[in-house]
Amino acid sequence: MCGIIGYVGTKPATPILMEGLKRLEYRGYDSAGICVQNGKLTTVRSEGKMVKLEEKITKFETRGTCGIAHTRWATHGVPQERNAHPHRDCTGRVAIVHNGIIENYLELKQELVQDGHLFASDTDSEVLAHLIESELAGGTALFMGVKRVLSRVRGTYGLVVVTQDHPQTLIAARMGSPLVVGIGQGEYFVASDPSAIIAHTKEVLYLDDGEIVAVTSEGMSLDGVVQAPVKDRVSRIDWDVEEATKAGHPHFMLKEILEQPEVIENSIRGRVDLLNGRCVLGGLEAVQDRLREIDRIVIVGCGSAYYAGLYHPQLTYTHCSTIHW
Ligand code: GLU
Repeated sequence: MCGIIGYVGTKPATPILMEGLKRLEYRGYDSAGICVQNGKLTTVRSEGKMVKLEEKITKFETRGTCGIAHTRWATHGVPQERNAHPHRDCTGRVAIVHNGIIENYLELKQELVQDGHLFASDTDSEVLAHLIESELAGGTALFMGVKRVLSRVRGTYGLVVVTQDHPQTLIAARMGSPLVVGIGQGEYFVASDPSAIIAHTKEVLYLDDGEIVAVTSEGMSLDGVVQAPVKDRVSRIDWDVEEATKAGHPHFMLKEILEQPEVIENSIRGRVDLLNGRCVLGGLEAVQDRLREIDRIVIVGCGSAYYAGLYHPQLTYTHCSTIHW
């Protein structure tokens, strides 16, 4: 589960999005991408570190005052450019960034493929772009279309959608994966973590699970479970940029210690089927037969990964960082 930032306003979106992504880098990621709306949608993605995306982006025309960006931590599909977000529909008129796991993506994907949709990635997330495409093609308005799509989805999401045909509009939704809306002067931000937007605004609205918000440079409209007026939900962040990455804690170590319950919950969300008492590793489903044939696993780790690697009663270890089954 990694990083999201979106912007709509009057300033050039690309520098704001790229700077926001950099502020999210500390969470770790394997690839990154950006999509800017300017008459059409221009998407640039890259495997690996942000510097690669920064280099690549100079070769594209990414002017525009509305856009979305993402750092990915793969759950479904190897960390390659084709699996990096933003993902697009068949027409290139819808782009999405998604954090989380769509548990029922395989059945949705099969249905979409039967309807003639062409997929460009191995991710679970891409189904969202194609489902929105289908809703729009059927004449549903964007906000309602996203809402209808999400009613079909099982799993977790922090989602932001941008389209070619709805200028200066972002639709964002949350279920189990944090999203915050930042309110500026004639501009709005959406991010998975306030640290990505705190340099621009301190007025924020934290979305609740099940909420969907439409954001334009003029304002926002919210639909969801909590019906309190938007203005009563807006809070002010008192941290500066430096403090924001520490989420108000005096230092990173304390933050990381106190975040552990949330981090563990986020890591296993969508991967444990409590009803049937089994693990669900969606990214490995396609190769499960090959995995069953494996009779030796070597876990290599350093630091805390080494200790995590040791945690199996049937393991024996041969030297400090290599463990044999
Ligand atoms: N499940 C998505 C993917 O594998 C999103 C991963 C993330 O949260 O970064 O692309």
